[in-house]
Amino acid sequence: MSKWQKPTLETKFHIDFDWWEEEGRDFRVHLLSHLCPECRAQYKNFQEAEMIDWVDADTAEVTRVDGLWHSLRTCCSLKPDFIQETTPLTTAIFRAFLENGNTPLSPLELQARIRRSAETILRTIGGFRIYNGIRPWINKKAQGPQAPNQGSTR
Ligand SMILES: [Zn+2]
Repeated sequence: MSKWQKPTLETKFHIDFDWWEEEGRDFRVHLLSHLCPECRAQYKNFQEAEMIDWVDADTAEVTRVDGLWHSLRTCCSLKPDFIQETTPLTTAIFRAFLENGNTPLSPLELQARIRRSAETILRTIGGFRIYNGIRPWINKKAQGPQAPNQGSTR
């Protein structure tokens, strides 16, 4: 049943927070390092950054989000140097997911966003080595730490 399937150019990937837990790594500390210098200075005491309500511009759905992540989406990711040609590939991929709120994307979709070849992206995140928790997305329907906002689907 849980046989590993080789990802393709159309396999959706996302940041899997289970991986961060398994690895015992602090996602928020890492997130902080992707903020622009101004935001980083503002969140020096980032442990105090609060959860805030995020309203999706398209669906008007309200989600509780991390204040750090909110700053990233409303400030840092809008700056021209957030994803550049010189940004390391794994960083660029990770930032693409930070920017879109961790909506699953395939290598083809990532290609359009970060302007690297989909084949290269697949070779990087489709192998056995996991970068920043980016793994194939499995539709588990409201399981896992990203889903507490969808209370009714349980
Ligand atoms: Zn910023």
